Amino acid sequence: MKTLDDVDVADKRVLVRVDFNVPLERGRITDDTRIRAALPTIEELRGRGAKLVLASHLGRPKDREPELSLRPAAERLGELIHAPVELAPGVVGDDVRAEAEALEPGDVLMLENVRYEPGETKDDPELARGLAALADVYVNDAFGAAHRAHASTEGVAHLVDQAAAGRLLQREVDTLEGLFRSPRRPLVAVLGGAKVTDKIGVIDRFLEVADALLIGGAMAFPFLSVRGHAIGASKCSEDDLDPARRALAAAERSSCRFELPTDLVLGDRFDAAADVRQLEGVDVPGGWMGLDIGPRTAERYAQDVAAAGTVFWNGPMGAFELEPFAAGTRVVAQAVAGSPAETVVGGGDSAAALQSFGLADKVTHLSTGGGASLELVEGKELPGVEALR
Ligand code: ADP
Ligand code: MG
Repeated sequence: MKTLDDVDVADKRVLVRVDFNVPLERGRITDDTRIRAALPTIEELRGRGAKLVLASHLGRPKDREPELSLRPAAERLGELIHAPVELAPGVVGDDVRAEAEALEPGDVLMLENVRYEPGETKDDPELARGLAALADVYVNDAFGAAHRAHASTEGVAHLVDQAAAGRLLQREVDTLEGLFRSPRRPLVAVLGGAKVTDKIGVIDRFLEVADALLIGGAMAFPFLSVRGHAIGASKCSEDDLDPARRALAAAERSSCRFELPTDLVLGDRFDAAADVRQLEGVDVPGGWMGLDIGPRTAERYAQDVAAAGTVFWNGPMGAFELEPFAAGTRVVAQAVAGSPAETVVGGGDSAAALQSFGLADKVTHLSTGGGASLELVEGKELPGVEALR
């Protein structure tokens, strides 16, 4: 993969695809993490005398919905880099091109939401050509969108003289691929969250390469059910049972240790005010649902994490948004944060959990891409990354 080290940007117009898909409430940005994550690339390029044209999507506009304008993101970026960031009148076209051509080294122009153009998600060649016409060099730093073959993430990369990964995308790909290249052992994967089918590819990959795979969250129940345990009203959908059965069979053949919860925290409903009880064992009585791993399981998982050389964690261990069921996720998060291992965390809710515990800066790498990080870990090729090879 080409990086910023391989491109000549001085005095050149550089189109940088960033991921400024930030959460907004009534026009205000509630979390600017994604904008901050792009700063190393933006600052490096400005320092090297590039003229920057930034492109991003925001939400899923059906047409040019003004609530999904990138204006707030452009303003926030301007505050962070202490320089004006102009917002272009659109994504492509003569007016936009004229503004791009007027840029001086170090200047920054932000294009409007690329999904205002219906061709974006179709990887439309004409839109890609319009984007390519704005710049001499293309840099992709939008890891969170790299699993999509869109005009601004894939098509445009083939139509410019030079294309390269930005520093964020480079670090994401190096770290996540590095998990499988030569990880310090033991390699321990902790997988939780909502559904087996969402993560079966990740489970399969770690069964091949990890030393231990620790399962928590709602995802544990299809496995427990297949093993013959009663799961009560726990979250478990029919379509998760077959993949769970197949993964259990693969675990039998694998040298990877496969761990399921051995105790649980139950609630009578998915609610912070639910009745709560601890369960020794994993046979859930009728009318109750497993909403967290129990303290013995959490302690076991924490010990494995503490003794690991490399840890990959994706997916909360329980319904961590509800305080009575947050303990299992908190214990695992603290173990990950405190472990001397290389610790890599992926997934939107896992990142939110780490942040809510104030531990986000205590891990080696917190991935900014939910779907993209899972696909990379599964071993899939990401169109936005392949275009830079
Ligand atoms: P990530 O975004 O980190 O990949 P997921 O989206 O797969 O994680 O799963 C997160 C969701 O799973 C959270 O909303 C959480 O409430 C839910 N969850 C975890 N454990 C349980 C459980 N035992 N019962 C119901 N929901 C759960
Ligand atoms: Mg999620």
